[in-house]
Amino acid sequence: MVLLLFGPPGSGKGTQSGRISNWLGIPAISTGDMLREEIKAGTALGNAAQSIMASGGLVGDDLVNRMLAQRVSSPDSAHGFLLDGYPRTVEQAEYLDRLIEERQFQTPIVLHLDVPMDALVGRLTSRRQCPQCKRIYNLLHQPPRTPGICDDDGTPLITRKDDSEEVVTERIRTYDEVTRPVLAYYQDRKYHQIRGDRSPSYIFEAITGILEPIVSKNGNCCAKPKPPI
Ligand code: AMP
Repeated sequence: MVLLLFGPPGSGKGTQSGRISNWLGIPAISTGDMLREEIKAGTALGNAAQSIMASGGLVGDDLVNRMLAQRVSSPDSAHGFLLDGYPRTVEQAEYLDRLIEERQFQTPIVLHLDVPMDALVGRLTSRRQCPQCKRIYNLLHQPPRTPGICDDDGTPLITRKDDSEEVVTERIRTYDEVTRPVLAYYQDRKYHQIRGDRSPSYIFEAITGILEPIVSKNGNCCAKPKPPI
């Protein structure tokens, strides 16, 4: 199963992709996380991406496409994967179509978390992330048990550099102008819109409600029982 998780920055894609990946036993691939790892490792790709990401713009299609193609070649992706934050341009969507055809992956199922734009800035500036396991917290409605510390592995949480108000505003503008048209590209395919302005558990229930009939029909549901709500 190939899943594409869409939504503006701050719509909760990271939280949902972790839950879906655990539930279905497929890798969640976040191009944003991959690019941050490249920056940390000081690679040529990381150096090329750094200033673009810091300003809230999009890294070039060629670079991201190549990185993605390489990632989905790993054995863990052979039976499916979830993409979080890719494709973000129509060019990337066209590239993904060609990749899917070439590698004979299944037709992607698109999940769109729709959140009103005016709710996003507050959500993003109160977001914290574990740099180790990548789990995402929100000081407003999903705080860690101990302030500033990851519940899962005890690592001190960080604020992502691009979650400052100025950069967040630019990221939202980029989403609206460049990524929103990608949704039109998928509209007549396996496209599902989900209200993203609800609790993470409510959203996950909505997602499993959409996916359960499909995965049980395909006979590959599910790696683990659904986590408790
Ligand atoms: P994210 O963690 O998905 O919010 O991504 C953080 C940043 O990484 C974005 O603001 C972009 O600068 C860059 N990025 C992530 N995915 C892509 C992509 N598919 N295409 C271009 N840039 C990307």
